[in-house]
Amino acid sequence: MGVKLGILGLGTVGTGTVQLLQDKTGRHPLLQEIEIYRVGVRSLDKPRAVELPTDVLTTDLEAIVNDPAVDIVVEVMGGLEPARSLILKALSNGKHVVTANKAAIARFGAEIFTTANQAGVYVMLEAAVGGGIPVIQPLKQSLSVNRINTVIGIVNGTTNYILTRMQTEGSNFNDVLADAQRLGYAEADPTADVDGLDAADKIAILASLGFGGRIHLKDIYTEGIRQVSKTDIAYAEKLGFVIKLLAIAKRITSAEENGGTLLRGDAATLSLSPLSVRVHPTLVPKVHPLASINGVYNAILVEGEPIGQVMFFGPGAGAGATASAVTSDILNLVAVLKTNTAVPNPLLACGHQEYCQIAPMAELITRFYARFLTNDQPGVIGKLGTCFGNYGVSLESIVQTGFQGELAEIVVVTHDVREGNFRQALAEIRDFEAIESIPSLLRVL
Ligand code: NAP
Repeated sequence: MGVKLGILGLGTVGTGTVQLLQDKTGRHPLLQEIEIYRVGVRSLDKPRAVELPTDVLTTDLEAIVNDPAVDIVVEVMGGLEPARSLILKALSNGKHVVTANKAAIARFGAEIFTTANQAGVYVMLEAAVGGGIPVIQPLKQSLSVNRINTVIGIVNGTTNYILTRMQTEGSNFNDVLADAQRLGYAEADPTADVDGLDAADKIAILASLGFGGRIHLKDIYTEGIRQVSKTDIAYAEKLGFVIKLLAIAKRITSAEENGGTLLRGDAATLSLSPLSVRVHPTLVPKVHPLASINGVYNAILVEGEPIGQVMFFGPGAGAGATASAVTSDILNLVAVLKTNTAVPNPLLACGHQEYCQIAPMAELITRFYARFLTNDQPGVIGKLGTCFGNYGVSLESIVQTGFQGELAEIVVVTHDVREGNFRQALAEIRDFEAIESIPSLLRVL
């Protein structure tokens, strides 16, 4: 008997998935086992790019997740509700679930995976991060024996597209955003992308898999790209960097811990070492592997021991690419159902109970880039250097780059510094009479 799918959603990803499932020739033999049994949509009147028997399409999504005949529910409708409730209901009813919904997994992963584990079924989410790029299963399976130290990704195609165009054309953020919206690379409401929220959802998922603990979204420092200016992109370029929106999850080393205050309190009693998890625009050295990831492409760099560095690169969105990830999850589950094993496969399940401890940003050790606008008074550079020195901030470079009207522009790149110290120094510098403003402050990889 075939494996019956209940697909929730027939938009970009749903349509791509149905197309891939319907084209059974020359692809994987397990495709022959699959029946597209029900597809849930909002409107039955919409024209569809795929042909389905009339009784397959329905607007009753509850009925799909409650139908005893459905073996696997494929949630590609997006949004938080009713997607969350439908996923939970499907799992409680003993159905495996495939989902592309990073927003739901990042927020409700704890209850979704607990429900799945209790019901003895799997939740597969390869398409939720990196679209078509296989990164979830590699983290869960192929790299599972490694001690992962860092996961750094360019995981949002829209912002990477905008930053790439700002870089190559020397254009402003607002102009490129408007054009990206016209061309369909950015949503009419771009908030989730340009403010870094989508990237935060994705790094929450990747960090959870890489570091073996749950992540509270609220603990992820999230800063988007609205403040990135063409001026900073040009200065970064001169200094040997490109600016990328990075999603970073990093295990804090004991040297970093000892430099800060993390060993106080209960951190030392937790079995999971503290992490730094954050999303922000970052100056990336041009020689770094992530510097050359341009346009809508995504890439995720994983560093582990003993593997070293592994980079996953490819299309982070789009019907075909995302359908490839969704369909590979479906095939994994078809194989599970076909082998009919009652023993849960720990390499497919996600069952972390403990939450990771996330270090406050003040404890972060990083390099900074800062741009100052100053009145052209003698000795400003010396005063900046002295104040930074007082807070233990050592400077890699300090350059007076030019003038904006009457004001001189000074750009500073620091060596590694504790973020809290750097901000204390900045607070003092802001009060200097010669300082007009500090228009940009960016972290450097
Ligand atoms: P989409 O094009 O907007 O399609 C959503 C589909 O779900 C539509 O068919 C819609 O029905 C149906 N739907 C939504 N809410 C519904 C409701 N309350 N009741 C019934 N049907 C409902 O979305 P998408 O771009 O395919 O994205 C789907 C998911 O995949 C999202 O979680 C997204 O984050 C994720 N994802 C997308 C991409 C990508 O490239 N697009 C990449 C990776 C992950 P109608 O057709 O009747 O309106």
